[in-house]
Amino acid sequence: MHPALIDTHSRLHDSLRISVTDRCNIRCCYCMPEHPVEFVPRREILSFEEIERFVRIAARLGVNKLRLTGGEPLVRKDLAGLIARLRAVEGIGDLALTTNGVLLGEQAEALFRAGVGRVNVHLDTLDRERFIRITRRDELGRILEGIEVCRRLGFQPIKINAVAVKGLTEPDIVPLARFGRERGIEIRYIEFMPLDAQGLWDPGKVLPAGEIVAMLEREICPLVELPGEDPRAPASRYRFADGVGTIGLIASVSRPFCLNCNRIRLTADGKLRYCLFALEEFDVRGLLRSGATDREIEALIRSAVGKKWPGHEINQSRFVPPGRPMCAIGG
Ligand code: SAM
Ligand code: SF4
Repeated sequence: MHPALIDTHSRLHDSLRISVTDRCNIRCCYCMPEHPVEFVPRREILSFEEIERFVRIAARLGVNKLRLTGGEPLVRKDLAGLIARLRAVEGIGDLALTTNGVLLGEQAEALFRAGVGRVNVHLDTLDRERFIRITRRDELGRILEGIEVCRRLGFQPIKINAVAVKGLTEPDIVPLARFGRERGIEIRYIEFMPLDAQGLWDPGKVLPAGEIVAMLEREICPLVELPGEDPRAPASRYRFADGVGTIGLIASVSRPFCLNCNRIRLTADGKLRYCLFALEEFDVRGLLRSGATDREIEALIRSAVGKKWPGHEINQSRFVPPGRPMCAIGG
């Protein structure tokens, strides 16, 4: 018997986010520096075998949901192969993917066949010029095509992650919601968090969830909050009162949801983190590569969960951002 991963704040941990690479094919300004970008050397990135072994051990401790992320997960060679391996791990009931969508058109079919059901595509704007300003790349067309391919294949659900930045993405809030309403896709607006590589974040650049709701209600129609199916899910969900479509709000800054957190994270270079904002990491790769037993790795996972703090401290004066940006942690 393996007791579940419950921390000192009574939170059960059954969800693991795995970053498969810190590399990316675009350069979102709130995540990566434009250049130079120092990526982790390839030999330090966990192999598929190492990831699979870690997942087997975590699954025995009650982890049943996986989300693959990055960097951009689709730039990792044969991601579909990894997905098929992880789908086969006993106890894994759910495997989702977060992607910027640039390579989805090419890979969606293989990913679907390998067993990804749920996909979150990151898209902040439908305006080509603003897209280039935000991501420093001209890839909007490929992302829109990738979303269409996913729709045709039957991914369910498809969600869009849109980072909301004050002074930058206000003009995109309503057009994105309309885009989602027309296609049965939920837009999830994510408040800008202090995880950018250039340290440009400040509280004044957060477009708070409350303002997003006000914009949508003014321009489209009233929103009705939906009762949470899973109280531990980070998004508060709303439906449009006219019955067409839903949105989600991930208000990590203005309404932190840490008390319901059920997640642990594995970085591409094999460090375990109990929080996006954690200041400490636990060296899984070191254990995996030094002949450690499953029990030793299990003990490391328990120790990380045991040290988990009550929540991030973004809104406190003592807040210290983590030493690595979002792309290196895995969003
Ligand atoms: N490359 C993939 C993508 O963009 O979806 C996966 C990795 S990315 C780090 C995961 C998510 O983090 C993105 O969907 C984006 O919405 C979000 N993100 C990145 N930087 C952020 C920031 N500073 N604040 C809030 N969300 C951020
Ligand atoms: Fe790449 Fe995703 Fe970061 Fe954008 S948010 S730079 S797509 S890893």
